[in-house]
Amino acid sequence: MAKNAIESKSKMWNPWHGCHKLSAGCKYCYVYRGDSKRGVDSSIISKTQNFDLPIQKKRNGEYKIPPGSMVYTCFTSDFFVEDADEWRADAWKMMRIRNDLQFMMITKRIDRLHVSLPDDWGEGYDNVTICCTVENQDRVNFRLPIYKDAPIKHKIIICEPLLEQIDLRPFDIGSWAEQVVAGGESGYEARPCDFDWIMDLRNLCVEQNVSFWFKQTGAKLIKEGKLYHINRRLQHVQARKSGINFDAEKSTVPNDNK
Ligand code: SF4
Repeated sequence: MAKNAIESKSKMWNPWHGCHKLSAGCKYCYVYRGDSKRGVDSSIISKTQNFDLPIQKKRNGEYKIPPGSMVYTCFTSDFFVEDADEWRADAWKMMRIRNDLQFMMITKRIDRLHVSLPDDWGEGYDNVTICCTVENQDRVNFRLPIYKDAPIKHKIIICEPLLEQIDLRPFDIGSWAEQVVAGGESGYEARPCDFDWIMDLRNLCVEQNVSFWFKQTGAKLIKEGKLYHINRRLQHVQARKSGINFDAEKSTVPNDNK
């Protein structure tokens, strides 16, 4: 589906809220940052009122989420967080019922994919993209072998917040990944991201014909040895202006993610 078409019909579905910090990329988690402003404890995981949003209907009997929409799923938690094990089967069921929608989720817990997978999952649902986050080489080495072999129809590697140079070369991403997304860290306490690390990923994607999206610079970007502080509202714009995105014409491109 073309990027513009997706953006015009995208919806957010957060069936549960809250998460537990797990790895280095979680240090300044945006869920925690947002919740702290409202005095909410992000470590308490609870179902939301919109748990069944995909199957909610309007008075006229139509689904609230129109057919063909891209549904960004579980962006205020991690879909595979342990506390949600009992609820996940129902969430999968709704994705199955709404096979006229595309669901996209991002996880740092790809090693828990097998927990409560539905019986008819097979090699994955056509309408579900599961993205795997890797923020440093340690997490690349742990998560990517699992992700590469996982039964998932659509795979996108998210390198965000990118905390150091990472090497994806040993994982033959050209044979299975639809896209690599890279970006820095946002927020007051953000750790810097070096443009050279971004370019290294980009060059690999071009070599292997995998789509690449430099999603946002983060709040602190190092370029040619100089540190730049970038205002929140310019972080996406500046990344786009760098002109380094690469379209391998085989990818589903998200317009936002964690
Ligand atoms: S929501 Fe994501 S970044 Fe935040 S604590 Fe959970 S896994 Fe980490």
